Amino acid sequence: MSAFGACRQMLRAVAGRGWRPRSSKPAPSAHASRPGAGFSFELTDEQKEFQATARKFAVEEVIPVAAQYDKTGEYPLPLIKRAWELGLMNSHIPESCGGLGLGTFESCLITEELAYGCTGVQTAIEGNSLGEMPVIIAGNEQQQKKYLGRMIEEPLMCAYCVTEPGAGSDVAGIKTKAEKKGDEYVINGQKMWITNGGKANWYFLLARTDPDPKAPAGKAFTGFIVEANSPGIQVGRKEMNMGQRCSDTRGIVFEDVRVPKENVLLGEGAGFKIAMGAFDKTRPPVAAGAVGLAKRALDEATKYALERKTFGKPIVEHQAVSFMLAEMAMKVELARMAYQRAAWEVDAGRRNTYYASIAKAFAGDVANQVATDAVQIFGGNGFNTEYPVEKLMRDAKIYQIYEGTAQIQRMIIAREHIGKYKA
Ligand SMILES: Cc1cc2nc3c(=O)[nH]c(=O)nc-3n(C[C@H](O)[C@H](O)[C@H](O)COP(=O)(O)OP(=O)(O)OC[C@H]3O[C@@H](n4cnc5c(N)ncnc54)[C@H](O)[C@@H]3O)c2cc1C
Repeated sequence: MSAFGACRQMLRAVAGRGWRPRSSKPAPSAHASRPGAGFSFELTDEQKEFQATARKFAVEEVIPVAAQYDKTGEYPLPLIKRAWELGLMNSHIPESCGGLGLGTFESCLITEELAYGCTGVQTAIEGNSLGEMPVIIAGNEQQQKKYLGRMIEEPLMCAYCVTEPGAGSDVAGIKTKAEKKGDEYVINGQKMWITNGGKANWYFLLARTDPDPKAPAGKAFTGFIVEANSPGIQVGRKEMNMGQRCSDTRGIVFEDVRVPKENVLLGEGAGFKIAMGAFDKTRPPVAAGAVGLAKRALDEATKYALERKTFGKPIVEHQAVSFMLAEMAMKVELARMAYQRAAWEVDAGRRNTYYASIAKAFAGDVANQVATDAVQIFGGNGFNTEYPVEKLMRDAKIYQIYEGTAQIQRMIIAREHIGKYKA
């Protein structure tokens, strides 16, 4: 067994001590009995183990090559394979499919550390979680074994195909359609901005199955699992983005793509709820990614401020600079608490839509503010590619856009908040 195989086994052993849910379904009783189920900021030994493994990988293997991947935009396949071997990918796949079956909280701890190393790499890894989540929350046993099981057997990627050139925030506006013909559905349409689009082995795809434009979103759309090598799929060029440049983002055209009816998730018409429901479990990790980036920016800025001298003393001794660091630290700590609350809620089997959007919106903003401040503390050097913080500033922007923009999160928070007063 390789060193990484052994490490993966170790994580599996760590995960198998019985305190976490044994399936993807929330298991409140398991969590209620686990250490820390009362109010506690202390991680369990197991959680510390996951965190430490991810941190070691990020510091020793991701950070040294992150700038090069950013420069070339090359897909970080060797890093992804290592993350897979270490058990740091697909960590929420249920044990029934060979996975670790970790809760969202533990996945978030891992994600924060990976993001500390490079959020391009983290997004590629998180793209898998997003693609898998509809199958985890809505797949039947056969679908889960087939599509989630293969992710455990090999370091494969998958993708979540919802956004289209004409519709992102307004998901109900998507035009891709699926028509039932015998035992198959025939899919036609175009998807855009798909993370892992050119690397995926299979896709979760949302398509309209009810042609009636008046049909409610909750009934008009269907979720499918689509094999990426199906005839009729054309994957577009890799998009050159502002940040997270090693992540693979593409448009995909579906032309008369035939999908067996066995690949429908839950049933015709259930797709919108599945696609949106996945976000309750994937937005906390996105927020955790934003926190990892912000923490990295804070660390880099602090180290620099301790070394750089102006007017005869380290800049950290100028109160204006130290107060900036204090503000950055406050934001990192609070954003971390926000994602941990959102993750804890969903692991406890409670509806966490409100907390997930608060975490995602807040952490996304914090990542941008803290990365911008880090550039400021670096002065002219901060604007230069020889130093790490300009990459962080470019990488941060997407946290206010993907998995629901900053504005859409606020719409959700407002709806959830006001709803409590109307109820
Ligand atoms: C790098 C990258 C990776 C991505 N990965 C994926 C993926 O894997 N799978 C996937 O399906 N999608 C993915 N996306 C798509 C992403 O989720 C969308 O870009 C995002 O949801 C916004 O949609 P849009 O780009 O169509 O913007 P629009 O919806 O056109 O919004 C434009 C602007 O208007 C604002 N806005 C829109 N509606 C309202 C409103 N009602 N009130 C107030 N403001 C509003 C938005 O906040 C935004 O600022 C990715 C995008 C990028 C850039």
